[in-house]
Amino acid sequence: METITNHLPTAELQALDAAHHLHPFSHQGELAEKGARIITRATGVTLTDSEGCEILDAMAGLWCVNVGYGRDEIADVAARQIRELPYYNTFFQTSHVPVIALSAKLAELAPGDLNHVFYAGSGSEANDTNMRMVRVYWAQKGKPDKKIIISRNNAYHGSTMAGASLGGMTPMHEQGGLPIPDVHHIPQPNWYAEGGDTTPEEFGLQRAQELEKAILALGEDKVAAFIAEPVQGAGGVIIPPSTYWPEIQRICDKYEILLIADEVICGFGRTGNWFGSETMGIKPHIMSIAKGLSSGYAPIGGSIVCDEVAEVIAGCEFNHGYTYSGHPVAAAIALENLRILEEENIVDRVRNDTGPYLQKKWKALADHPLVADACIVGMMGAIALSPNKAERAPFDGDSGAVGLICREHCFANNLIMRHVGDRMIISPPLVITKDEIDTLIERATRALDLTLEQIKKQGLFK
Ligand SMILES: *Cc1c(COP(=O)(O)O)cnc(C)c1O
Repeated sequence: METITNHLPTAELQALDAAHHLHPFSHQGELAEKGARIITRATGVTLTDSEGCEILDAMAGLWCVNVGYGRDEIADVAARQIRELPYYNTFFQTSHVPVIALSAKLAELAPGDLNHVFYAGSGSEANDTNMRMVRVYWAQKGKPDKKIIISRNNAYHGSTMAGASLGGMTPMHEQGGLPIPDVHHIPQPNWYAEGGDTTPEEFGLQRAQELEKAILALGEDKVAAFIAEPVQGAGGVIIPPSTYWPEIQRICDKYEILLIADEVICGFGRTGNWFGSETMGIKPHIMSIAKGLSSGYAPIGGSIVCDEVAEVIAGCEFNHGYTYSGHPVAAAIALENLRILEEENIVDRVRNDTGPYLQKKWKALADHPLVADACIVGMMGAIALSPNKAERAPFDGDSGAVGLICREHCFANNLIMRHVGDRMIISPPLVITKDEIDTLIERATRALDLTLEQIKKQGLFK
């Protein structure tokens, strides 16, 4: 097989990158000085950089490469589809085989009567669609004032104007005048950071009831929908207490509020079921999907919509769509990705085999002197770093300073683990083997040891 060779030395690539490429979520000036790490290839769970270094990717890229890197089957399907029909739109009463097959497959996999798919190019776009769709739904039902969407602080729903507005990330809201109108945020179910002296169960109930309070304060006749990730991902893998979701479901049912589950991370096996809604026992009207839908092999996202919402929307012309809605190559890739997930029993393995193996080892990290809490569901997990375990205390100084130190030690030890504040998070490819899990835990432990050593010297840990 032909390989793509890099003709330039790393330093030159870094210089060109710094000169011409603006990076997402990066301080461009600082990055330019340091130089980006250049990733050249990947197979399974392992990345290779331009210096030949092999790195275990415990984040599956950005939570997306569920079937692992280097799948020839997907490459073959993509090549075949590009030759046969590289592009056609679905706007003007046309359709094509890949999008039809993918839609039928998603209807089969999605729970309940979630049987209809509207496509987007990404998770952010899917949430833009959702914002408009739920408003059109209520307008069609003669309630055009039901427009407000309730979301949560520290939620992540993407980076477009609607996505970032629905999200609850303060640093994102601070840039560009967000959130846009008619989005309201309630507190998150983050017991570790905000639970104080309550039990997780009490706290979960309290935080769910914030939704009821908000609905009553805003007016039931003004609220269109509640959107939430079954398990918050980018917010730091926040697994809600067991009391949270049943109470949210009760409230949505009681006040006739549409429930949107943002499954962009949780979908396609991440939590040990096909969808996080199943793991958390939620019955959403709409699910946002992206990431694991194609394992990142092509950009594709969408909204899976229940029968009733689809029926109401079908009563008008929905003036919305993207040039690449249901792109045939992306759809063919997604379909092949779903075939792999199914035929290799990957979701079952996460639930019954490799998932529990990882969970046991991950939770044991809580014995480390630096770790106050270790939580994990399926294959998404977090550890909270703290100078005082018993009190779940934060570090003196900037939140995230210690997390960043730990991430740098991980990187130096050939492990990609991300930090959100002082939480370290993982979301490895779902095909990770037990041997690779052992390596992940060994490298993470070593990074924790080195971090502890360093912050002791700096006086951050007494
Ligand atoms: C990543 C993410 C998004 C945004 O998806 P993009 O493809 O980056 O636009 C939306 N929601 C959740 C929960 C995500 O994790």
